[in-house]
Amino acid sequence: MTIPMLDLAAHHREIRGDLLAAATEVIDSNRFILGPAVTELEEAIAAYSQCSHGVGVSSGTDALLIALMALGIGPGDEVVTTPYSFFATAGVIARLGARPVFADIDPVTYNIDPDHAAAVVTPRTRAIIAVHLYGQCADMAPLLAIAERHGIPVIEDAAQAIGSEYRDGRRAGSMGTSGCFSFFPSKNLGAIGDAGMVVTNDADHAEKVRILRVHGSKPKYYHQIIGGNFRIDELQAALLLVKQRHLDNWTRKRQQNAALYRDGFEAASVTGEHVILPTAVYQESGVSHFHIYNQFILRVTRRDALRDFLSAHGVASEIYYPVPFHLQACFAYLDYRNGAFPHAEAAARETVAIPIYPELTPTQIAYVVEQFRTFYSRA
Ligand SMILES: *Cc1c(COP(=O)(O)O)cnc(C)c1O
Repeated sequence: MTIPMLDLAAHHREIRGDLLAAATEVIDSNRFILGPAVTELEEAIAAYSQCSHGVGVSSGTDALLIALMALGIGPGDEVVTTPYSFFATAGVIARLGARPVFADIDPVTYNIDPDHAAAVVTPRTRAIIAVHLYGQCADMAPLLAIAERHGIPVIEDAAQAIGSEYRDGRRAGSMGTSGCFSFFPSKNLGAIGDAGMVVTNDADHAEKVRILRVHGSKPKYYHQIIGGNFRIDELQAALLLVKQRHLDNWTRKRQQNAALYRDGFEAASVTGEHVILPTAVYQESGVSHFHIYNQFILRVTRRDALRDFLSAHGVASEIYYPVPFHLQACFAYLDYRNGAFPHAEAAARETVAIPIYPELTPTQIAYVVEQFRTFYSRA
């Protein structure tokens, strides 16, 4: 048996006809830039995320970049965020000439620890970026309280968390000044290429993002500010509209797969000593989308040998992420030391992602669990 991290062929099998029809419609319409599908997708994703505005952009990275640009972040500013995320979270801060300032993560959720975040805020802090890592919301209430105390905005990096709910039922992207989604193909709602979106309940912020998306131009060819070409393709918007209708179903399947893994790992008696399962911290609060499992992350012993064993038996795995930001070569100038963020460093050393995609079958899940059982039973 071979089990990949993602099976896009299986993912698209049932909707292939609908995708091709949507693509044909766009091609025949000859409206390729900011057409009706973009508007429809913006309204659909904003509503899904409990927001009044959505602005479709070229990628999740550009969503973060343009949200920070709309806040006027630049040289001399500091932005507080996690050291443990996909590179874009910190990359966009540095690209604007601002300084990324890191705060360690909570070792249970892998999301930024609000107490640590509070401790690194300075008079130069201009924003906080909260990442909802792996599909579970960061602890937003204390983060929003810190931000309010200092009069600064919170931007949500919700690239892995579309539709995910915080303990009070508020959805990823609706709690901060804006939320940034990625439609990279491996995200829960993936395009057939690159795309992203900024969602917000702040009309002024939405308007700034909209203007920055088209080179800061308003009216056309008159520029009060400097933006860029951050547009989403009409084609991607049309394809995403097809896929968005299935998102809740896919999320449910990911959650079911997570439950099967939990039962399987418990029954195989590898938890506790060798494997720590992901904790869905908001599960008890009654929200249904507490964790949308963009990734299923295990903390394990003997990780590298385990990965070799899984690979030899056809099971893919991945490390998200092997190097925390403060130890990346490009951020050496920030002058952080090894040991500065022990929880992020331990997570980078000890965790592994295993396949959780919606089309995974119970037989495949049982096979993955069996490989863990075999590996850990051989002393
Ligand atoms: C995927 C991702 C991004 C970047 O999105 P792209 O669409 O690939 O540019 C940013 N932050 C996080 C946490 C991500 O997972």
